[in-house]
Amino acid sequence: MVQQPPDQVDPGEVNRRLGLALEGTGVGKNGYADEYRAIAETLIDRLIESRAGMTKISNPGLVLTSGDATIDVRVDDILEDADGRLRVRRVRTGHGTKKSQTDAASTSLFFAARERYPDSAIEVVHLAEPDSMPIAIDQKKLAARRASVDGVISAILTGDLPPVRSSRSCPRCPAFFICGSLPPGTLVKKVPTGVTGSV
Ligand code: SF4
Repeated sequence: MVQQPPDQVDPGEVNRRLGLALEGTGVGKNGYADEYRAIAETLIDRLIESRAGMTKISNPGLVLTSGDATIDVRVDDILEDADGRLRVRRVRTGHGTKKSQTDAASTSLFFAARERYPDSAIEVVHLAEPDSMPIAIDQKKLAARRASVDGVISAILTGDLPPVRSSRSCPRCPAFFICGSLPPGTLVKKVPTGVTGSV
């Protein structure tokens, strides 16, 4: 849906694709199918509402440069609001937390968006919240937050990712029996060759 300008989203097409998604995942045959559909419709309505009256801006592809690494940063939506201000957004389901505004993903988005659009509002839209939440970093904390993101990227590149063991979470972890040092070699992410079905 976020790939289309807000005023061109067709409710009938959204409804059709929702039905296909519910059937495709088997949710449509669940005993709570009507309730699941109602929840999905609420989230869709919230997304439509969050984009109302704005103009879609094409995403140039935001990147974050850290040392020798260039990271492609995912942005779900870039919109221009009625006051002419750009809103660079990530969209998530569920409720927002303080962490969702300050974690490495949001911090990476902040620095990448600020570099490309210095005066934009950088936000995360949680579909279970009535308002979008700003991602903002106090001037005094900029250097520390930037260093923390650079540290995460460096750790990923060097494989320096020591496990954080916990008697509470480890017993429930799928990696419990194989948890340990990483095998040698380069980390390669499998990227899907094609994404279809977006509205
Ligand atoms: S078992 Fe799972 S939760 Fe525990 S340290 Fe290893 S990866 Fe982390």
